[in-house]
Amino acid sequence: MSKISQLDPHLTNMIAAGEVVERPSGIIKELIENSIDANATQIEIVTKNGGLDLIGVIDNGEGMDKEDLKLAFNRHSTSKISHPDDLSRIRTLGFRGEALPSISSVSKVNAISNQHELTVDNSVFSEIVASPSNQGTSIWVSELFYKTPARLRHLKSPQYENVRNLGLVQDLALGYPSIAFKFVNDEQMLLNTSGKGDLKEVFYQIYGAQYANQSVLFSDESYDFKISGIYVLPHHHRANRYQIKLFLNNRLIRYHQISQTLIREFRRYMPSDRFPMIVLNIESDAQLVDVNVHPNKLEVRLSKEQELLLLIEKTIHQSLKTSMRSKTMTRSVFDKPMTISFLDQDYQLEKEVVGITPKIEVNEVNPIRFQEPEIEPSFYQPIRVIGQHHGSYILAQDESSLYIFDQHASMERIRFEKVSQQLKESEFNQQQLLLPLIFENRLKEIDDPQQFFERLSEFGIILEAFSDKDLIVRSVPQWLDKLDPFIYINLLLDEANQDLVSINHQRLATIACHQSIRFNESYSNLQLQKIIDDLILCEQPYHCPHGRPTFIKVDAKDLLKEFSR
Ligand code: ADP
Ligand code: MG
Repeated sequence: MSKISQLDPHLTNMIAAGEVVERPSGIIKELIENSIDANATQIEIVTKNGGLDLIGVIDNGEGMDKEDLKLAFNRHSTSKISHPDDLSRIRTLGFRGEALPSISSVSKVNAISNQHELTVDNSVFSEIVASPSNQGTSIWVSELFYKTPARLRHLKSPQYENVRNLGLVQDLALGYPSIAFKFVNDEQMLLNTSGKGDLKEVFYQIYGAQYANQSVLFSDESYDFKISGIYVLPHHHRANRYQIKLFLNNRLIRYHQISQTLIREFRRYMPSDRFPMIVLNIESDAQLVDVNVHPNKLEVRLSKEQELLLLIEKTIHQSLKTSMRSKTMTRSVFDKPMTISFLDQDYQLEKEVVGITPKIEVNEVNPIRFQEPEIEPSFYQPIRVIGQHHGSYILAQDESSLYIFDQHASMERIRFEKVSQQLKESEFNQQQLLLPLIFENRLKEIDDPQQFFERLSEFGIILEAFSDKDLIVRSVPQWLDKLDPFIYINLLLDEANQDLVSINHQRLATIACHQSIRFNESYSNLQLQKIIDDLILCEQPYHCPHGRPTFIKVDAKDLLKEFSR
């Protein structure tokens, strides 16, 4: 007897659902994309309990007539393509005809469009009935995974799902400033954009005034591409790449090479393990893009990739240069990798020098191929400053050697040890702030605020909810002295959803040292001497906390050799 049989449509839909509707945010994404494809200018998203109990997406788009309403829930039914050639010029977000049948195979969906109403309960269709409604479509999804308990168990807490949902709606709002988005969870308004087409306004709504005021708009074009967007000045940065938002013909995408190009440009002005905050819109002829690569449509294939990467690099490079004008950066140029022979080791300086800090080839297994220059007992003979080189290196000497200190790395080490030391004390003297610090919209990003607040209070940082979405800090512990508490606490907030155990002395001190980075800053010889003196007193003066060397030492006798004496 034959073992193979054609799967019935319900089962096929459930399998397809595995790819597109893993969790509430996946459903919301598909529904909003349908509203966008129907040319809606207003989209309201309503959820209960993080979408676990109810998801509603209401739009003012074109809607569907009675026939289409039923067809829409059949597998592979779409109004967006009809011919093989259409696949190579897709301008709509959807085209696979899978979302509605998939969603309705694992939940109960109630759809109202252009005066008609239909319910599909785990693939079982009701009769279509007349229903008074406004222009557009409302889709309501409830009892999600009610008949697929394995899936249900996969879902996380309502708070977690809500954070994911909000992130998704924010992303789409950034991609579509001309659509007014409203997002309400459990009767709480979490996002409300005007739809006036002003990207900066949406950016303000999502990231708050502090970031929006420090943001820069950009735009440029080449023969095949137009790019535009907004970024936050690079002295603000994040711990991960989630705030790099890429849109290609308004579709939110992931594209490694584009992100890398952006990161590379921004890291000329920020620490090498940090990430920029940027929204980048790319427009191109639809023929250059293949979106039919993955069911979630996040991955795309692109022709003329090099042309686009060059355009992005050039535009961002120029824009950053202009906005950072006050802190002119020089790019060191080494034609080929250079070996400092007098150190007698292969200490390579990369050709692509990031900012002004020569980057050392780092070996994965053995982080730094760099022998520690010894500080001999003669260290007690003072090392005296000679001067500063290019605002970033300190030249110094003692009786027998020349020293070149990397100013940034040295300051990082000093700050790291100082903060580590202070954090070991269990009492944290609080300094009242004249103006409390407000962290707009950041409460919403935290999965479990209470636990996070408790953890930080162990280190003297007292965060409180200020509204249903903002945070406030009224005083800061003394160890934050000399750091910018606003920037520092924002950096900490980036880590709010990580395992709280990882937020410890070591981590707090590492974050602190990011802030000692100053590019091209001139100091008096007295100040430079103080940096050297402080570094020497460190427990581990040879490397910055990220493993880069803090100084190199050149023996006078090696110099003699170099000059063939
Ligand atoms: P796809 O978007 O890939 O075409 P879907 O299953 O998401 O597939 O939707 C099927 C069809 O239902 C769409 O092609 C569209 O014609 C119609 N549709 C879905 N949602 C809406 C909406 N909000 N407004 C108007 N039409 C819609
Ligand atoms: Mg769709």
